[in-house]
Amino acid sequence: MRILVTGGAGYIGSTAVDILMSQGFDVNILDDCSTGHADNVPAGTTFIQGSLLNTSDIGQALKGCDAVMHFAGKSLVGESVEKPELYWSVNVGGTRNLLDEMRRANIQKLIFSSSAATYGEPEVLPISEGAPTRPTNAYGATKLAIDAMITDEARGHGLCAASLRYFNVAGCLKSARGWLTERHNPETHLIPNVLRSTSANPVKIFGSDWPTKDGTCIRDYVHVVDLIDAHIKALNSLGKTGHEIFNLGSGGGYSVREVLAASSSAIGKEIAFVDSPRRAGDPAVLIADISKAERVLNWKPTRDIGAMVGDTLASFG
Ligand code: UDP
Repeated sequence: MRILVTGGAGYIGSTAVDILMSQGFDVNILDDCSTGHADNVPAGTTFIQGSLLNTSDIGQALKGCDAVMHFAGKSLVGESVEKPELYWSVNVGGTRNLLDEMRRANIQKLIFSSSAATYGEPEVLPISEGAPTRPTNAYGATKLAIDAMITDEARGHGLCAASLRYFNVAGCLKSARGWLTERHNPETHLIPNVLRSTSANPVKIFGSDWPTKDGTCIRDYVHVVDLIDAHIKALNSLGKTGHEIFNLGSGGGYSVREVLAASSSAIGKEIAFVDSPRRAGDPAVLIADISKAERVLNWKPTRDIGAMVGDTLASFG
């Protein structure tokens, strides 16, 4: 079976490529390398360095494929607030093109990287797939719009699809060509920022007055290898026409201070930090209800926060 992995040169997409290949899948990759890295692309794949905004690039990338894992897209909340047009054009416009080209090529299986940002500020925790969807930024709004587009495509044209709503993805995989780790510039994610913290440049804790046990935000972290395991299970579950949505997290939460503590024990020394104002758009607590993925996909995350921190630390060399 040949899979097109869009965004296959990025952090999560390249991890998917590696695991798919290790399980015997053939892989095509479409990535414009705007945030991905060509050196993440392994030998043995068909790599099209191209854009979802160019339908002939998509057509070329789909050649010989039976299914698509769609990771490509813009994914920074802050940037999406400043440049919503970029997010609507690349994420929604790009996915519209992908769906059109898949229909033309008669490819009917799709796994899509959606996000917990589709839910916005939760009323009830943990967050289930039936929770209200009220995104608080353009990033979440575009992921929600794409989910709706996929539902319509399934209804109208027989697509078989699953949208996987990620909570906080962390950790990394060591491949034959090195660690497939987060390489964002600037880095905004907590775990890499904590691990790079120095007394000269301490990590900022965004808010210590949240209504939580220690005053810092709580998030649900899931290891990228567990996340991709869910993608493959979701792919294998696609059979009949339709669109299913699954939350992917761990089902539990860690506060920012608890992530600092886990990092401190991995490094073996105190982590320098500075208490800072809250970051705009941050909800206090996000925890996934993952019971649907456990029940329907027979999926269970197995790597804890210690593994996520430990792998990220090892990847820094
Ligand atoms: N955070 C922080 N300092 C940082 C980066 C993040 O205190 O340098 C906090 C952030 O406010 C949130 C949590 O850590 O509560 C996770 O943030 P991250 O950007 O990793 O993921 P997000 O939840 O925004 O997807």
